[in-house]
Amino acid sequence: MSNEIRVRFAPSPTGYLHVGSLRTALYNYLYARKVGGKFILRIEDTDRTRYVDGAVENLLSTLEAMGLEFDEGPGEKGDFGPYFQSERTEIYNKYVKELLEKGKAYKCFCTSDDLNKMRDEQKAKGMDTKYNGHCRNLSKSEINEHLTNKDSFVIRLKIPQDGEITFFDVVREKVTFPWDMVDDQVLVKSDGFPTYHLANVVDDHLMGISHVIRGEEWLSSVPKHLFLYEAFGWKPPKMCHLPLLLNPDKSKLSKRQGDVAVEDFINKGYLSETLLNFVALLGWHAPDNEEFYTLPELEKAFSLKRINKSGSVFDVEKLNWMNGQYLRNTDLKIIGEYARTFFNKAGYNIPNEKHYLELVDIARNRINKLDEVTEFAKPFFSELNFSEEDKLILETESSQTLFKFWIKNIEEAPVLNEEIVNELLKRSAQELGIKGKNLYPPLRLALYGSEHGPELPTIMDILERGKVVDRFKNALK
Ligand code: GLU
Repeated sequence: MSNEIRVRFAPSPTGYLHVGSLRTALYNYLYARKVGGKFILRIEDTDRTRYVDGAVENLLSTLEAMGLEFDEGPGEKGDFGPYFQSERTEIYNKYVKELLEKGKAYKCFCTSDDLNKMRDEQKAKGMDTKYNGHCRNLSKSEINEHLTNKDSFVIRLKIPQDGEITFFDVVREKVTFPWDMVDDQVLVKSDGFPTYHLANVVDDHLMGISHVIRGEEWLSSVPKHLFLYEAFGWKPPKMCHLPLLLNPDKSKLSKRQGDVAVEDFINKGYLSETLLNFVALLGWHAPDNEEFYTLPELEKAFSLKRINKSGSVFDVEKLNWMNGQYLRNTDLKIIGEYARTFFNKAGYNIPNEKHYLELVDIARNRINKLDEVTEFAKPFFSELNFSEEDKLILETESSQTLFKFWIKNIEEAPVLNEEIVNELLKRSAQELGIKGKNLYPPLRLALYGSEHGPELPTIMDILERGKVVDRFKNALK
């Protein structure tokens, strides 16, 4: 296992998948695929207060919908499980004991009142707030006294108090932190549950993780993590911190300024292909600066070396543009399948598949997001409203003659089908002398509410005979 590339996506199930997390998952996945390594999914659910029902299922289904298949993780997959941290508490306990024995961690009995007071004092002095080390050097008897009193305690990491730590990050390169900037991190909370930092390091080691690829917000945790690796005598994985995702005003991407949940984007009609492609380019650039990539293409092109250092602006305009490109350039049948969810939601049913796809095709050439696709079907399922300009077209003598001709002939025809519509179009020209601009726009306007739109046989098929006649009658003065 030692030389194997093993990467992990380690989300905390908070209810939805953030686009930043999608990028982290994607880059881990891509790196594993590129080098023939393993992509592991680990659920970091030790914080029981943040537990959200259904969050794990939601996460799994979103990853699946995105096509990011993991090699090891929840379910039957993999020999390094369990892959839920909440099922690994005993493992962590063993390692905490080791840290206490080695003097790398200590029990802290400070109460929350003590901690608040400490913080207030530090703030008043204009200092950064951090634990002041009160319990670092309690004597054995002091500790025993607290324990006999059943005082609640946490276990903290005994971070060096001076000097600095330098490490190499694949993206940030050489990084240095003075130790006095690093807090004596809580490793085990008073409820006995480990914090992220302990569980994360222990699991990365036990699961043989070779590269930690995650968001830049975790960079400042690296000193604590490296301290833990050293305390245990373990070789740390390579660190790779991805640039921050930013709002257009360069602030950190946040929910307040718009959508951040992957499912919100999907519900708005962005394709999973677009999202993957777009997110792939948020912090990574291709050798040729090419913009369009399928997942298999990304698997070939990806490299850690091409990850950018500076933050990436999440540009919704560009996302919209890209989605429009995908809508227009993807096989119509596939777009038709995506669009069906939106038609069903609107309650619009178009049984004839050919005509349904024709409508989707018209729509996709005019929209960027699939949530607008049903706009083009709306005229079939709701009353038409004509503007004054529309009325000018509908009320000309030629239009009125045309509508009467169509009403009479449709009522006399045994059925209304494509053949008959085409025949009536021809006869309108031959018998009434109405053609071109005087023929198609008024017919379409009367039936569909717009001079432009689907082909007339399609419109009439979707409306069906009764409604076609009604709409023509409605257009008569
Ligand atoms: N559970 C952490 C998170 O939500 C994982 C960070 C890491 O990859 O180490 O995002």
